[in-house]
Amino acid sequence: MQKIVSLAKRRGFVFPSSEIYGGFGSCYDFGPLGVEMKNNIKKAWWGEMTRKQNNIVGLDAAILMSPKVWQASGHLTAGFADELVECSKCHKRFKSDDVKNKCPKCGGSLAKPRKFNLMMKTFVGSVEDETSETFLRAETCQGIYVNFENVLNSMRLKIPFGIAQIGKAFRNEITPGNFIYRTREFEQMEMQWFCSPQQADKFFNYWKQQRMKWYLSLGIKKTNLRAREIPIRERAHYARRQVDIEYKFPFGWQEIEGVHNRGDYDLSNHAKHSGQDFKYEGYIPYIIETSGGADRSFLAFLVDAYGEVKGGRTKTTEATKETEILLKLYKTLAPIKIAVLPLVKNKPAIVKKAKEVYKLLKPYFTVQYDEVGSIGRRYRRQDEIGTLYALTIDFDSLKKNDLTLRDRDTMKQKRVKIKDLIPCLKKQLYPTA
Ligand code: ATP
Repeated sequence: MQKIVSLAKRRGFVFPSSEIYGGFGSCYDFGPLGVEMKNNIKKAWWGEMTRKQNNIVGLDAAILMSPKVWQASGHLTAGFADELVECSKCHKRFKSDDVKNKCPKCGGSLAKPRKFNLMMKTFVGSVEDETSETFLRAETCQGIYVNFENVLNSMRLKIPFGIAQIGKAFRNEITPGNFIYRTREFEQMEMQWFCSPQQADKFFNYWKQQRMKWYLSLGIKKTNLRAREIPIRERAHYARRQVDIEYKFPFGWQEIEGVHNRGDYDLSNHAKHSGQDFKYEGYIPYIIETSGGADRSFLAFLVDAYGEVKGGRTKTTEATKETEILLKLYKTLAPIKIAVLPLVKNKPAIVKKAKEVYKLLKPYFTVQYDEVGSIGRRYRRQDEIGTLYALTIDFDSLKKNDLTLRDRDTMKQKRVKIKDLIPCLKKQLYPTA
């Protein structure tokens, strides 16, 4: 993990938040490469869960909602509280699930567990009193439930159908940690599928499979992914059935997405509290939810792609003794698709041509131009951030108007005419687009 965290910072994927002031409570900022990669993950999810489906539509609900929503959803009561224990000596706090009798930090005795609500309180309006108190949403799905009828009616949908949403959520986690795995501010990618009670089991299995396939289709290794059926005592309070999709992180198997059969829990509660009637053809729809995290899948994709080659891959250059890092990100997820590299930087004609190629490609792909250091070093810098293709402009390019295209994974090189470059790259990067 340390290697991942260090690469993430060194190469502009993820920085600790407010670092110049010593950081801030497990918050992180996505750097120039991180934001590209996270956007790619979200784009892949959105395409899969909306565009490719017949009956799923999108939504972008507000983060701030009426506190009545959280009353109805059960978040303000025991349903959304973790048990917390505090060490009587060092006053560190832990989730009671994570500790036994003694404080893991100082060995001090632990006080009695108490409930700790994870909702983040905030105030809306200019007066800090009860009437304007609300919460940052702790999950994005409530915005979907309260819009169930708006979406159904405005889009003239019929059950079964789904609503997909990507957005920030906030939880005052007792023990955040493992880099971006558990943070207090994170981004969810959720789809809520509304169906009849009779069809709930069938759709649960269907969506569980679809979601497993999605991770595999984006390059996650099969041996690092599993679906774990969650027994009743461990399930979320609303779940009739729950499968956690887990990834084998360096710190163990951990959830990256939950698939839940929420039954009629949500719509019944909102019907009761709001006085609305959410019956559809005589029944309250059941909800199958696929609830993933953009940050957790980001970490899984990063860990899965990370590899080290001892002694380096090329045996011909000076740097062969070094350990080389190769980030084998799936092509749609890689933050930079192409690097443009003049073979040498002291030949103005080569530099000029390389800059022309860079300008040519910029409107179509994420491209980096790099002329600093030996060509071998530059290839390695690009391999380390997962750049798919490196284009080198050399002396022959000046005569033949072509360049070499080097593949990140195979290191094979081929010559391509500059006039054919855009269709050639489009075909390799987006074969089905
Ligand atoms: P955990 O048991 O790990 O706290 P959870 O079961 O509470 O997670 P859900 O409420 O099912 O998580 O949320 C769905 C998804 O949202 C999770 O699978 C995860 O990807 C993401 N998520 C939840 N909490 C966090 C967090 N604190 N930091 C980052 N991502 C999170």
